[in-house]
Amino acid sequence: MPSGSIPMITGVVYAYLAFAVLALLWYSRRFTRRRALVFLAASALLGFLVFAPVFPFMVQEVVLGNLPVLIGLVVFIVLVFLAGRIICGQVCAVGAVQELVYLIPVKKHRRTANRRQVAIRAGVFIVILVAGAGFSVNLLARLGLRAFFNLRVASVPFVIFLAILLVSVFFYRPFCRYICPYGALLAPVSSRAVYRLRRTDACINCGKCERACPTGAADPDARLGECYLCGRCTEACPVEGALVYARGGGKD
Ligand code: SF4
Ligand code: SF4
Repeated sequence: MPSGSIPMITGVVYAYLAFAVLALLWYSRRFTRRRALVFLAASALLGFLVFAPVFPFMVQEVVLGNLPVLIGLVVFIVLVFLAGRIICGQVCAVGAVQELVYLIPVKKHRRTANRRQVAIRAGVFIVILVAGAGFSVNLLARLGLRAFFNLRVASVPFVIFLAILLVSVFFYRPFCRYICPYGALLAPVSSRAVYRLRRTDACINCGKCERACPTGAADPDARLGECYLCGRCTEACPVEGALVYARGGGKD
C-alpha cells in the first residue's frame, strides 16, 4: 500500500542515514540488538509505505534496463566493502521483515553457509539475469516482493512471498540466503570488508558466539560473507573485547 503522499526517495535517504548511524553504533561498540530493532521496524514500515529500501528489487530494475538505479547499488556495494553488510542486517526492508519474523520464539533450524547454498544463490542470480535481460521477465515481482509490500493480499505473488516469510520463522532469512541477487553480490564483498567482526586474543574459545550465530559466520574458519551483522554473537560473547567490530588486527 505505498502511500502516494510519501515520495520513494524517502526510503533511499533513510537507507543512507540508517547505514551511517548503524556503522557508527558498531564502530563505537554501542550496537545492541535492542537498538537494531528500531531500524528493523523503520525499514519494514518504509517497505510497506514507499516500497524502499528494497534492494533486491533495485537489482531486478537494473536487469530490466533501469540503469540509473545502478549508481545507487554500486554506492552501497562500496559501503558494504567499507563497513560490512549493514544494509542487509537492518536497512533492507526484505531483510528486515525476515529478521523480525525470525524473532518469533519457536524452535529454529540452523543452516550454516556452505557451497550448495552459494551455488543455489548463484544459479538463481543467473536465472534472474537471463529472465530479465533476455525475456523482460520480472522474476522478483512474480515471487511477490512488490505484491507483499503493496499488500495485494488476494494475489498469487503475495501468497508466494508470504510462504517465504513463514519459512523465515524457522530458518534464518531464506530469501537473503538463497534468492536475493544483491545478496549474491554483497556476500563476497563483505567477506573482505575493511571493518567487520573479528576475534581478538581475548577470545577464550567458549563457542557461545558460534552457537548464537544463525548462519555459521561466527565459526572461526568461516568467511564473513554470510554475516548479516545481526549482533547475536557479540551479545552472546561473555568476554569484553573478544569479538570486536574493527579494522584489521585480531583473528579473522
Ligand atoms: S540479502 Fe538481499 S534481501 Fe536480504 S537484506 Fe541483503 S539486499 Fe535485502
Ligand atoms: S551472529 Fe553470525 S550473522 Fe550475526 S553478527 Fe554474528 S557472525 Fe554475523
